[in-house]
Amino acid sequence: MVLRICSVNVFVDNSLRIMRQASSLMGTRGLSMVLKPTFYGQFVGGDSEEELRHTAHKLTSAGLRLMVCPVQEEDAGEADQLNEEKYDRNLAYIMETGSIMARTGTEIPNLQFKVTAFMPADLVVKLSVLLSRGTYSMEALVSRLSAAMNVGYETDTRKEVNDITSCVTEGQINDLSAQETSQLRRGLIRVKTLGVMARKLGLNLLVDAEYTYMNPGISAVALTMMQEFNTTSAIVSNTYQCYLKDAYESIQKDKSLILTRKGHFGAKIVRGAYMEKERKMAKEQGRPSPVCQSYEDTNTKYDQVIAHMIEYISQDPAGYLVVASHNETSVSRASEMITQKGLKTTGSVVFGQIYGMGEQISMPLANSGHIVYKSVPYGPLLEVLPYLSRRAAENRVVLSGARKERALLSAELRRRMNILD
Ligand SMILES: Cc1cc2nc3c(=O)[nH]c(=O)nc-3n(C[C@H](O)[C@H](O)[C@H](O)COP(=O)(O)OP(=O)(O)OC[C@H]3O[C@@H](n4cnc5c(N)ncnc54)[C@H](O)[C@@H]3O)c2cc1C
Repeated sequence: MVLRICSVNVFVDNSLRIMRQASSLMGTRGLSMVLKPTFYGQFVGGDSEEELRHTAHKLTSAGLRLMVCPVQEEDAGEADQLNEEKYDRNLAYIMETGSIMARTGTEIPNLQFKVTAFMPADLVVKLSVLLSRGTYSMEALVSRLSAAMNVGYETDTRKEVNDITSCVTEGQINDLSAQETSQLRRGLIRVKTLGVMARKLGLNLLVDAEYTYMNPGISAVALTMMQEFNTTSAIVSNTYQCYLKDAYESIQKDKSLILTRKGHFGAKIVRGAYMEKERKMAKEQGRPSPVCQSYEDTNTKYDQVIAHMIEYISQDPAGYLVVASHNETSVSRASEMITQKGLKTTGSVVFGQIYGMGEQISMPLANSGHIVYKSVPYGPLLEVLPYLSRRAAENRVVLSGARKERALLSAELRRRMNILD
């Protein structure tokens, strides 16, 4: 029923408004009683250690692994210029989530995160502009971010702007104001703190991709983390969206940057969630869309990027690849290649699907010996709802395409009812 409702466009478009109105009529408790066993229960892994442990246990007993997706994120224009506390709170929450994940006993838990949880989205946009204008090459920016991240790492992140800017002259970025320099440095210290924790607890970190106006800045931060932490194996991975026309070139460039610096490259490969908005923005701004012309073009690109990454991992087993897709054709092509290269159980190539969806893909993969993660959103009901609503709108193609899944579920329900008769 949940999957059926999620396939109705009117519901998806108005989901947040419907939930807010329901909340004002029923109160938070009433809303919680309706949503916990339905939408929240279907797609969210809980909001306490006990609930996440329970979710992890259910996954492990089905032969699947835990990937957690905290809901903290920010879009351009949403930042409160002076409020660094929000990003500190996000760090504390995501680090606590990481420690809980480590205590669930899941083998190498994967933690997704958004760079905009740790620094203002407007700043990430600015880094992207510096890259696209050619003020810095990706190599030069990563070197500077790396210097800014490391000089005086122990320094208190709340120090006054002047103190902080004085110790980042080595990683100074032209064109950023003193305040932006301070925000950048604080953000970099936060991601480094997360990386240090992940290394200590044995987690893998997956940096999520967002909109094209932020992605170059996000990649610069992700590559800086890879350079810092992927020295013996790839514990940090960046995400590549194959609906983008330049996906193949981007991943090749980023990989060679990391390999030149003697690191191991990690990538989560997705088709991309923001197609409608990307196309709309391009149209409004009168520029060509960055998104592939057709679904078929995206599919071809996806399979091409996956083949390229599997080839790389077969040369460097310390690299990491997450094949993040619910597309049966892509998944079975990847599975064949992985098996052919003998990479099925090495742990360096894994699959990822969203929790609450695509069981007909996850289970056969796991049963045939592949390593499969389910991406589980985690957080309190009221914080998760806006997140779920945005994801439902972004993933409407997937939700409306869950027909086969719904048919399989109905058939199984009927079978069980017949047994009861
Ligand atoms: C573990 C995991 C992590 C993820 N992380 C991210 C992330 O960090 N960033 C992100 O953006 N997304 C992320 N996603 C979502 C992902 O990008 C896709 O939206 C989603 O997985 C649907 O693609 P698919 O391969 O599963 O399946 P499919 O249903 O086969 O593909 C649907 C996708 O194809 C593309 N598409 C559809 N129609 C067209 C068209 N006409 N022209 C061009 N392309 C088209 C779109 O990307 C659409 O989402 C993640 C997904 C998973 C499972």
